[in-house]
Amino acid sequence: MTTEKSHLFYQSRQPRPFLERSEGIYHYDENGKRYIDGSSGAMVSNIGHSNPRVLEKMKAQMDRSTFGYRLHFRTHPSEDLAARVAARMPEGLDKVFFVSGGSEAVETAIKLARQYAVTQGEESRYKVISRLPSYHGATMGSLGVTGSPIFTGKFAPMFTEMPKVPAPTCYLDRDNLTEEERGIKYAEMLREKIEAEGPETVLAFLMEPVGGASTGALVAPDSYYTRVAEICEEYGILLIYDEVMTGAGRTGKFLAAEHWGIIPDIVAMSKGFGAGYAPLGAVVARHDIVETLLDAGGFLHGFTYAGNPLACAAGLAVLDEMEEQDLIGNAARMGDVLKARLTALMDRYPFIGDVRGKGLLLAFELVSDRETMKVLPKEWNAHVELVELAYERGLIIYSRRTRSGYEGDHFLVCPPLIVTEAQIDEIIAILTDALDAFA
Ligand code: PLP
Repeated sequence: MTTEKSHLFYQSRQPRPFLERSEGIYHYDENGKRYIDGSSGAMVSNIGHSNPRVLEKMKAQMDRSTFGYRLHFRTHPSEDLAARVAARMPEGLDKVFFVSGGSEAVETAIKLARQYAVTQGEESRYKVISRLPSYHGATMGSLGVTGSPIFTGKFAPMFTEMPKVPAPTCYLDRDNLTEEERGIKYAEMLREKIEAEGPETVLAFLMEPVGGASTGALVAPDSYYTRVAEICEEYGILLIYDEVMTGAGRTGKFLAAEHWGIIPDIVAMSKGFGAGYAPLGAVVARHDIVETLLDAGGFLHGFTYAGNPLACAAGLAVLDEMEEQDLIGNAARMGDVLKARLTALMDRYPFIGDVRGKGLLLAFELVSDRETMKVLPKEWNAHVELVELAYERGLIIYSRRTRSGYEGDHFLVCPPLIVTEAQIDEIIAILTDALDAFA
């Protein structure tokens, strides 16, 4: 490991070996050691690594043309991918804007919402309410809606902090309410916030339908989704779903919104959409929102790489794999298997306090007491320790100790959607070994 000589800098000095090659759900390092990619990187590699059919299609596009600027040419990959995405969307959501990643997708969605409001003569609307905890990106605009002081705090004077409502962490609540009632309770906090801020100032509500790294695959009661949508409609507030992590099949539907029959006004996607083959994301918006803007002179926004043909060719090839191999169906089926296996670990390890998630966006949380859900002592550094124990044993999982609103050591177990039952056995065997070493 030669990190001392590296000129690169990222989040920390944590030394990692060189990646030599990858195939399917596996990575191999410079020493030939094999790792199961149990988190699909950062919940990205939905169709697995180095799929030869995808590479072939990308190569074919490279042979034709590697870049054509969107203001100079239309390209077949971008037009075709937009049509394929629109066809998979709920009714009315058929306008697509390509970007290169999740933060760009979130910023694009927010700017689209704002420009629509201004075009409609509603200049007073600019606040985007989001949740605490939440993660929506690392750029200055997306930091304003990200509910994670550890990532936002130091930059606070430099961006506009947007209002937050508590994320529906019902599993921590010790009250006498039913699940349904708890969902309503959290949704109604949005109404209270809108009223407190002044409804005429509120532009949109932004939420991850299933939480990602911030809340560890948090799923709300069904009632939460419907009531939130109703409240947004009642106040004329746009509902933006951040499906950067959940979109493109990860939860067992193309969009997580489909689980609850919700039709957001705007959806942001990335991660599994390009699946690691190309930096790619998309914002999909209601037809009339975009038409209104186009009629009024256009959307004042864009990135140089938006819709570049190579990334879109990768996106098309990824979508082909998802459809031809029924990977969304596999995510639902294998998600059930993996969730059951993770839940079974709770019998063996009393310090696993909760297992949650949907499809192959799954997480478990470690606690010192399951009854009260009291967190593990911070000094244990569990979110790092357990990940390292698993990594040593050849399993990659993803963790975060959230320090916003509540604390908890949660671990995302999110293998590529191609995972088989036998590979889930391998994941559980290594995880058990790591948990034994941790205990
Ligand atoms: N939104 C969500 C829900 C995410 O999980 C992420 C990344 O983890 C982002 C936005 C930001 O995406 P990116 O890191 O590609 O900019």
